[in-house]
Amino acid sequence: MNDSLPPCPECSSEYTYEMGALLVCPECAHEWSASADTDTGADTGADAVVKDAVGNVLADGDTVTVVKDLKIKGSSTVIKVGTKVRGIRLVNGVGDHDIDCKVDGVGPMQLKSSVVKKI
Ligand SMILES: [Zn+2]
Repeated sequence: MNDSLPPCPECSSEYTYEMGALLVCPECAHEWSASADTDTGADTGADAVVKDAVGNVLADGDTVTVVKDLKIKGSSTVIKVGTKVRGIRLVNGVGDHDIDCKVDGVGPMQLKSSVVKKI
């Protein structure tokens, strides 16, 4: 039996349970994807708040600007410093990428919160 579900990322409740592909917290009604696996050892809790390059707390739907040129892997495209990105979505992305967004003229991608600044 493997009953060790991760605690709730919102309120740290241990009484989480599985509902299909989601984990559900009975205490704050938070639902999230269980696919992130159980490597919650190192920085649990730090994930709850995503901050930009200067420490502003980011939220879904925020508009940000890119604070440095970003080369896109596998292409010659560069997202220039100052590029405005509207309607970001906070995600638990690949590596340190914690913002899901669509960049005008480039397309959908994931960014690191450390390279953007909230407007
Ligand atoms: Zn909770």
